[in-house]
Amino acid sequence: MKHSAQDLEKLRHSAAHLLAHAVSELFSETLLTIGPPTAEGFFYDFLPLKNFKDEDLPPLEARMHEISKRALPLTHTQIPKDEARKLFAGNPFKLELIDMIPDATVGIARQGDFIDLCKGGHVENTKDIKHFKLFSISGSYWRANRDGQALQRITGTAFFSEQDFKDYEQRREDALRYDHRRLGKELDLFSFHDEGAGFPFFHPKGKKIINILTQFIRTKLERDGYQEISTPIMLSEDLWKRSGHYAHYKDNMYFCHKDEQTYAVKPMNCPGSTLLFSERPRSYRELPMRLADFGTLHRFELSGVLHGLFRVRAFSQDDAHIFCTQDQIEQEVLSAVRMIYEVLKKFDFTRIVVGVSTRPANALGSDEYWQKATDALKDALTKENIPFEIYEGEGAFYGPKIEFRIEDTMGRMWQCSTVQVDFFMPENFDLSYITSEGIKARPVMIHRAIYGSFERFFGILLEHYKGNLPFWLAPVQVKVLTITDEQKEYARNLAQELKTQGIRVEIDESSDPISGQIKSAQLQRVPWMLVLGKKEVANNTITLRYVDGKQEFGLTLEQILEKAKELS
Ligand SMILES: [Zn+2]
Ligand SMILES: [Zn+2]
Repeated sequence: MKHSAQDLEKLRHSAAHLLAHAVSELFSETLLTIGPPTAEGFFYDFLPLKNFKDEDLPPLEARMHEISKRALPLTHTQIPKDEARKLFAGNPFKLELIDMIPDATVGIARQGDFIDLCKGGHVENTKDIKHFKLFSISGSYWRANRDGQALQRITGTAFFSEQDFKDYEQRREDALRYDHRRLGKELDLFSFHDEGAGFPFFHPKGKKIINILTQFIRTKLERDGYQEISTPIMLSEDLWKRSGHYAHYKDNMYFCHKDEQTYAVKPMNCPGSTLLFSERPRSYRELPMRLADFGTLHRFELSGVLHGLFRVRAFSQDDAHIFCTQDQIEQEVLSAVRMIYEVLKKFDFTRIVVGVSTRPANALGSDEYWQKATDALKDALTKENIPFEIYEGEGAFYGPKIEFRIEDTMGRMWQCSTVQVDFFMPENFDLSYITSEGIKARPVMIHRAIYGSFERFFGILLEHYKGNLPFWLAPVQVKVLTITDEQKEYARNLAQELKTQGIRVEIDESSDPISGQIKSAQLQRVPWMLVLGKKEVANNTITLRYVDGKQEFGLTLEQILEKAKELS
């Protein structure tokens, strides 16, 4: 039987009740607070008499199974608030929740003699909750308020079948094993230091990968008529007041004071590009003007949310701003969408989910503007035969956007690429161009990025490929290994030859046995090993060993180069 996302939410919501039921039986003095389902499972926050310990989880799980087997029907009824207050007398948390509910009645869930305050949405019977696990105990606060009552959170998950549960465990294991922070260390790619929390340091191999990603995008930009610019990292505070960032975003910005002037470090490239555009009068002949800016951005994030390369305080984007006429929107969007697909496919992302976010309640600009821009986005996708969802009212206040979410090899979705139409900034900065009729007109600005942030995309790729970057992206593509030191000279000549051909190659200069050299190249996830022994030297050939252990013997240098070219 196929279960929907709502079914799974019901199951997990019910599993949270089951956990609370088990807690109330085993630790009867515990106060229950709230226990919602989450994207990954569920949790329940408690105030126990004595803190829970990890050893408490197995007996709790066992009791949950036992209650499940009691086959208690789950019922849900609405009762008057006064009655509910009596039921939960002695639990200040539940009483507070009851007071917060605006209606005259509140919902009560029952299974056997266990009751909980609840909006409803359950499985029918406790016996339907079979495949679950409790993961951890952590600290939390009542209503997520740091000054509020400290609580203990028990986190778990539930699934409809044992197979779903096993798949989930496998993905969890993979996610830990291939965590990009761990791979970054193992492969010597990047690091973080206390001297700048959230500011990544890229090591030579990590920087190499960033450069390859940059170069890859640059060739596409060049082909599609973009021009690369660079704009200052700091600009006067006044600019950011004009752009609206100061009002909406100042808590996330860094400031710098000098000579009684206040500068803001840029959190986005847009205002810089806008200044450059407005630097002199523009003609319709110059449009569309596509300006790419890979400038480093700084955004202050609370230290608690920093997470490897996924959430940093300094990063750069493959950002571009297209200034065009209203009639050019569709064509420009179409071209951006094509590039996005072309780029994402190169990284073996097979599933891409697309959504168009439409006019929100607080939108700026006329209905006509919005209609035209939203239609342009939809028409571009339709022309490319790309199915899309509509995210009603989820556009930015300054214009509609297309969002692309990609699925990685561990089944996780990531939002990276966006195309956004913006009427607001051209208005705000009084941008104009002269039409073919000699009239002054307002251009439209399109913001678009493909990777999004280089740093985050790099982290996603590392996990998506589980550390085994494809040949074209690997910082070291080829490692030359020798059976004995006698083949070192042959190895050096070969490496030089490959380098000349643009291949990233290293020689293992150690005198380790060949098995050790192979092991070390494998640990470094080098896609190709060229193994050289007496026979190879005598015949002027090469043995190619792939990272998965497959081998090809007796290859010539030309054959190696040919193969490398195919993978580039
Ligand atoms: Zn419930
Ligand atoms: Zn922008």
